[in-house]
Amino acid sequence: MPLEWVPPGNYQPPQKDSGASRSEIDSIIEKFERLKLITMAVWTFVKDDKDINEDALIERVREIDKLDGTVDGKLKLGVKKCGKCGKALNPKFEKCQYCGHITPLTSIFETL
Ligand SMILES: [Zn+2]
Repeated sequence: MPLEWVPPGNYQPPQKDSGASRSEIDSIIEKFERLKLITMAVWTFVKDDKDINEDALIERVREIDKLDGTVDGKLKLGVKKCGKCGKALNPKFEKCQYCGHITPLTSIFETL
């Protein structure tokens, strides 16, 4: 295969294959759709109970989006460190993989 000439400054590394199979992607899409349905159901309870409208919801989403310092429609929580040895914790586990210390979650959203 001949090498393609790339103008300086325009080089982009090859895209890394995610390795996800079609069925894994379909499963994620299915879970996303179910999560959307559940979120909408929860929203209807909150809306009725708290007498707030969707504009208030949108504003709150923007406020929360800003918490990680980047308004990008995503919330990336910072790296959490072990309360005993100080090494980075796997964000999905309370138990340190190095020393076994349990650092309790401070938010349920740390498990996502
Ligand atoms: Zn530790």
